[in-house]
Amino acid sequence: MRVALVNPNWSFEGSIYFGCREPHLPLEFGYAKALLERDGHVAEILDAQLLDLSDAALLARVREFRPDMTVVTTAPSYLFWRCCPPELRVPQAVVRLLRPVAGTLVGVGPHSSTTPRAALAKLGVDVVVQGECEEPIALLASGRDWCSIPSLCHARDGAVRVQGGPHAGTFTDLPALSWPDGWIARHRHHHHRFDAPPAGPGAEVEASRGCPYSCTFCAKENFRDRYRRRPVEVVMREIDGLIAQGVEYVYFIDEIFLPNRPLLEALAERPVRFGVQTRIDIWKPEMIALLGRAGCVSIEAGVESLTAEGRQALDKDCRLSTDELTERLILARRHVAFVQANLIDAGDDDPETVRAWRDRLRQHGVWANDPVPLFPYPGSPDYRRLWGLPDDRAWERALDHYLAAHGRFSDLQDERPRPLAELEAAHG
Ligand code: SF4
Repeated sequence: MRVALVNPNWSFEGSIYFGCREPHLPLEFGYAKALLERDGHVAEILDAQLLDLSDAALLARVREFRPDMTVVTTAPSYLFWRCCPPELRVPQAVVRLLRPVAGTLVGVGPHSSTTPRAALAKLGVDVVVQGECEEPIALLASGRDWCSIPSLCHARDGAVRVQGGPHAGTFTDLPALSWPDGWIARHRHHHHRFDAPPAGPGAEVEASRGCPYSCTFCAKENFRDRYRRRPVEVVMREIDGLIAQGVEYVYFIDEIFLPNRPLLEALAERPVRFGVQTRIDIWKPEMIALLGRAGCVSIEAGVESLTAEGRQALDKDCRLSTDELTERLILARRHVAFVQANLIDAGDDDPETVRAWRDRLRQHGVWANDPVPLFPYPGSPDYRRLWGLPDDRAWERALDHYLAAHGRFSDLQDERPRPLAELEAAHG
């Protein structure tokens, strides 16, 4: 079978999407391509964002490829599945564009993982995948009866079937990825890097997937949930390939970059810098020093609240006091060029305390953001607390709630976030 794996050329006008807008490597499609080729299929990733393809160019590329099956994602790379744009406007448009040349159309991403029926209807695809998508894509290409494949949602005999729950891949057995030289050459973005301007290409890599914690605001439950770690030698083979292509910085997209001595010692031997997102409370001083020696130049650490009660309300399961967290952030800054502490606007923290804390951190070179409002992502415990299990209107409900609470944003009309009904095309 010939399988096209399509990442749209994203645009975010009117969206509350707050993730990075630069292109990143489509890791999920990289793995899917490897699994498809292992099974004897022909697969091609058409990353319209990374290659900056117009609609006409994307259509021409897909037509020329002549796919039997085309997979369209609803989030710009695994890095943003947990904070994806709520609206499906862009993938909807891509599905409409490609329908005449796509073959079977498959939707994957956070939307189909959490609200498969709504995603199937809105996207207008033939089938959607719930959960991590690499292995289900390979099963779809195998020609098996869809009714026998778990974690799919599709229509059969006039009825929509939701088969089982979201898929969680083995993950640890996925191969080292490699990317075309031309892709790496144009990947100038260094995600979340602030210590120095890029001198060479950047890339994204995944050393682990999932997280052992369960913070109330985190939308990981239907994908990338259980913690799994790739063998260090596989991760390093992938990174060595990237270094050979000129990459000087990699960003680990891991939900939580846990201390991993063998990985850090291997990175310390390579001419590469890297960035991570993690929790500072799980890093002992000795490991923070090793993290710095290994080449880490960017840490994003979720502190969320300045009181133990506030962190407990978010189920952070944090064992350190606020003073201990502060000391550890300051220590991290001695070893790592950029350290950011994230706060959440849960209404618990006294604004004056926040201001003083941010000032104190800043004096030590640590950046702490203004507390950010929470979007109650369908698939997060916060959503469930408010409304129960996500139904077909979950994304509309969450966005209406968010806009009502935080709808001020920009004065520029073009940048004012809009409700889902205005953003998405009408669907049946
Ligand atoms: S630490 Fe909390 S927010 Fe971070 S990935 Fe784990 S559950 Fe999500």
